[in-house]
Amino acid sequence: MPEVITLGEALVEIMRPGVGIPLDQPDTFLGPYPSGAPAIFADAVARLGLSCGFIGCVGADPFGRCLTSRLQADGVDTSWLKAIDDAATGVAFVAYYEDGSRQFIFHIADAAAGRLGPEQIDRAYIQNARWLHITGSSLSVNESMRQACYRAVELASEAGLTISFDPNLRAELMGPEKVRDLVEPVLAHAAVILPSGEEARLLTGVDNDAKACQALLQHGAKIVALKRGAEGSILFTRDERITVPGFDVTETDPTGAGDCYAAGLAAGLLWGWELERAARFANAVGALAVTRQGPMEGAPWREDVDRLLQSSTTRSR
Ligand code: ATP
Ligand code: MG
Repeated sequence: MPEVITLGEALVEIMRPGVGIPLDQPDTFLGPYPSGAPAIFADAVARLGLSCGFIGCVGADPFGRCLTSRLQADGVDTSWLKAIDDAATGVAFVAYYEDGSRQFIFHIADAAAGRLGPEQIDRAYIQNARWLHITGSSLSVNESMRQACYRAVELASEAGLTISFDPNLRAELMGPEKVRDLVEPVLAHAAVILPSGEEARLLTGVDNDAKACQALLQHGAKIVALKRGAEGSILFTRDERITVPGFDVTETDPTGAGDCYAAGLAAGLLWGWELERAARFANAVGALAVTRQGPMEGAPWREDVDRLLQSSTTRSR
């Protein structure tokens, strides 16, 4: 039985090979690359050396096999990753632009990924674990995936697992009130919240990153890890505020950094490390994640993280 469990959308990403190639004209694509925020988290946790299970659905097709075999090769437990016959694996098409922005076309809600529902959440599987991670993107896929997440949270909180939450919902699609409603059943039980500044402000309605993180602590979280891209992260607890600088790396593809950071923080805390050490480790995991093209390709192995930590080139504050 895995120590860490996550659930939600697994999909493949099909990407433009260079910047500035829009999605509305014929041109070349690269892929399939395994993706989906919770799947990236699961893969990263396993590469760091902890046992991790991923609950979700893929199609019984080559893209589904691409995902399943990749997760299995890295050591993720796929006992509850179903391959279903009558739906195709989820897909995201991605274009990159000069200004750093990205454009997506998603096939998730109506694809196999969107078939995950609460009936696929096994009580014993959840309750024998130590940590459950929920990704906000999963809460906005569809009602059945949302209910699966809520069910997992309910079972985890009943059994005293640590619940972490990355609130990466696509707020522009639904507005702040709706986001807060969807997130509330998870926020109410999450001990560790990992927002970007924008997400922290959106969730709390407080117009300042640090104050918004403090407000999330008032809500019941024990640790709020504010992710700041190349700048690193700031960790907030009731008594402390720890600023941890980022590592100096060359960014090739930022997708997946947040999921890898979450994996690093969960791993460090599960190993019993102090918060500052776990956060520095998480920064290193997030930094390595951006050095490779492909959302899951940069998920580092434990040895790679240790090597970066030893060479220790952090940015000045
Ligand atoms: P995403 O949603 O795109 O996966 P995010 O917005 O959730 O990412 P980021 O702040 O971009 O999260 O990245 C998470 C962590 O990864 C950062 O806190 C930092 O530690 C590390 N990181 C991200 N980008 C860089 C970078 N360019 N250089 C060094 N470290 C980085
Ligand atoms: Mg994010």
